[in-house]
Amino acid sequence: MTSIWLDEVAPDNRRALEENMTADVAIVGAGIAGIATAYHLARAGAKPVVLEARTVADAASGRNAGFLLAGVAENFVAATRRYGEARALRIWRFTRHNQDLVREIVAREGIACDLAWNGSAQIAGDDEEWTDVRESADRLRKESVRVLLVPEERAAIYEDDGEFHPVRYLRALAGAAVAAGARIYDRTRAIAVTTSEVRTERARVRASVVVVCVNAYSQHLVPLRVRPVRGQMLATAPVGRRVFERPAYANRATGIGASAPTVVFSPADGGTPRPTKKSVKRSGRPRGSRISSSASSVSAVPRRTSRTAGRASWAFRTTRCRTSAGSTAECS
Ligand SMILES: Cc1cc2nc3c(=O)[nH]c(=O)nc-3n(C[C@H](O)[C@H](O)[C@H](O)COP(=O)(O)OP(=O)(O)OC[C@H]3O[C@@H](n4cnc5c(N)ncnc54)[C@H](O)[C@@H]3O)c2cc1C
Repeated sequence: MTSIWLDEVAPDNRRALEENMTADVAIVGAGIAGIATAYHLARAGAKPVVLEARTVADAASGRNAGFLLAGVAENFVAATRRYGEARALRIWRFTRHNQDLVREIVAREGIACDLAWNGSAQIAGDDEEWTDVRESADRLRKESVRVLLVPEERAAIYEDDGEFHPVRYLRALAGAAVAAGARIYDRTRAIAVTTSEVRTERARVRASVVVVCVNAYSQHLVPLRVRPVRGQMLATAPVGRRVFERPAYANRATGIGASAPTVVFSPADGGTPRPTKKSVKRSGRPRGSRISSSASSVSAVPRRTSRTAGRASWAFRTTRCRTSAGSTAECS
């Protein structure tokens, strides 16, 4: 399946690895995890090698929604229930730091990736979720998080969140990693790894350290408790006016892997941005189950067609509508 992000950026077409070699660090997988690892190692003076079965950003990292949100996909209270408060906070701080890193890297490397920090909206789908969304906001405010509650829309606006074009970002980061001394090989599938060697179909790489960054494909190489889940994104042709002011998650407490999808809405291209409250209000409180799909995550620019018993109906323009499916992973 295609990806609107991948379609918009010419592939790098790096060569495949044909010969044996040595490296300080061998990294398997050129998604955001592998490329960021290579970038930071190379800047620290190491000589990393990245081995990618397809090409940079060809999997989940080039097929996602491009949201730069702090925290996990669930609201903070739901994450606390799942991971415990200390761990949920640790994850939250880590992802917040990640946002800072993106900001720094984009500035340092001059990356043109449509980076915007307009915040994100977390929209409750029902009373229970609204309680969680509210409590999450109250709890995170104690961590100096800038969050605004909009009770009449049962929404929380996280003001420091952002979004970007994931493929433009990652391909540029790969270029910066190479400029700093990393080597990246496309079409080079690892078929076996040890702590000091990666074997591909045609070569071997010996290294002091091997880092496996293959996300949902981990089980093919290493006995990890990482399991694949399916996620997909739906994009429409530009609608010519702004529908949402900022990325929005609705019914996100459903969580990855559950039967009903979480729905995430991206701001539409073009048009004059409208005030936050109005744009959230116009969105109603869409429930993820409105879209019949087995996906755990659907991203789309919807338009409301009718409203029945307080619930909005949603339709998606089908002209030039493309879906992109990618695998992502969840640790159990
Ligand atoms: C539809 C969807 C929407 C999402 N939306 C968001 C979002 O808005 N914001 C957000 O932060 N996250 C989002 N995510 C999650 C995010 O995309 C992933 O967590 C992230 O991209 C994972 O990066 P990664 O580098 O670990 O894995 P991947 O990007 O999946 O990269 C793994 C790479 O390893 C390669 N590989 C696999 N096996 C081998 C092998 N044997 N040898 C060599 N190479 C191999 C693959 O080809 C691939 O390039 C979304 C995910 C999906 C699917």
